[in-house]
Amino acid sequence: MSACLFCHIVDRTIQSTIMYEDEHALAFQDIHPQAPVHLLVIPKRHVQSVQDLETTDAVLLGHLLRVCVKLAKEKGISESGYRIVTNSGFHAGQTVLHLHFHLLGGRSMIWPPG
Ligand code: 5GP
Ligand code: ZN
Repeated sequence: MSACLFCHIVDRTIQSTIMYEDEHALAFQDIHPQAPVHLLVIPKRHVQSVQDLETTDAVLLGHLLRVCVKLAKEKGISESGYRIVTNSGFHAGQTVLHLHFHLLGGRSMIWPPG
């Protein structure tokens, strides 16, 4: 049995509020939202981070970003703007080692991030 938290969200052994699902992707609400809209968009297949994507994953990567854009539209933050973030590794603060894109919006954000 996988020890990966997000794999368990994919297989429903851990509960989450799912906002979108298709054959390759899943989107759900972040358990500790940092903005009025804070969703996580993940591949269903276990990939640790962007660093572990292969050339053959280019379509998957594009698809995950398209899902972010679609959800931003559905959440009504397309006009106001939003941020898509992926953390990779220790210095970036990646805490769950399953590739995920944070979709954050609904408030103003500062740059650069901390
Ligand atoms: P990271 O720090 O790896 O970029 O982001 C991991 C994210 O996963 C964090 O924003 C954290 O709040 C979220 N998270 C951690 N555990 C859970 C959980 O059990 N369920 C949900 N929905 N989100 C989680
Ligand atoms: Zn996983």
